[in-house]
Amino acid sequence: MTVPRHHHARGLGLTSASMRSKLLNELRLSGIHNEKVLEVMGRIARHEFVEEAFSSEAYKNRSLPIGHAQTISQPYIVALMTQAALGAPGTVKPRRVLEVGTGSGYQTAVLAELVEAVFTVERIRPLTESARQRLQRLGYRNVHFGYADGMQGWMPYAPYDAIVVTAAAQTVPPSLPDQLAPGGRLVIPVGAGKAQKLLLIERHATYFGETVLSDVTFVPLLAGRI
Ligand code: SAH
Repeated sequence: MTVPRHHHARGLGLTSASMRSKLLNELRLSGIHNEKVLEVMGRIARHEFVEEAFSSEAYKNRSLPIGHAQTISQPYIVALMTQAALGAPGTVKPRRVLEVGTGSGYQTAVLAELVEAVFTVERIRPLTESARQRLQRLGYRNVHFGYADGMQGWMPYAPYDAIVVTAAAQTVPPSLPDQLAPGGRLVIPVGAGKAQKLLLIERHATYFGETVLSDVTFVPLLAGRI
């Protein structure tokens, strides 16, 4: 069925409500079972995080351009990473989370709804600034922004209960597991080009556990700031 343009514009609120519930169903079917993650993702207005030209795509399960050759991650991947960072029910809930790769600030907002404090670092200055303004406008008060190379983690606020990296590393940068608190979880895509795996690395008392969560395609994690 084709929807007349004026009708579509007038019904934007309604359209996005039905698109949001369709997206949540898709997430459930792909194995996202954490109800808090689903609730938060159903509530946050993803269209606020993409350029206006892409508003109508915002509730589809796909990544979208955010400028500077970067992308806002696919909702399924955001949900999967958040669910992994939070840990299984019954495990200790993370309070302080580091995100490497602020980008649009969407993943940041999802985390900020679920934990006490989010520390997020980005290496592209204009993206840091626009994400900071966006999250301030949306009312988030528990997010700390850094313009920094997150390959080094973010020492001033370490250790973290969880670290979520939203760009693909060639290998795990040693600073990241180092900055995990005991029992902490690092969620990071690792690998070159299209052969990337999303890893969950858990800090135990005497060793790090590693689990492969999924095949993924992220933009590369790059050194230095621009
Ligand atoms: N979480 C973002 C995803 C953005 S894409 C969102 O929800 O929109 C990944 C981001 O990681 C890009 O903005 C890129 O500039 C950033 N990035 C890449 N390497 C980085 C590094 N070493 N330190 C900090 N940010 C980095």
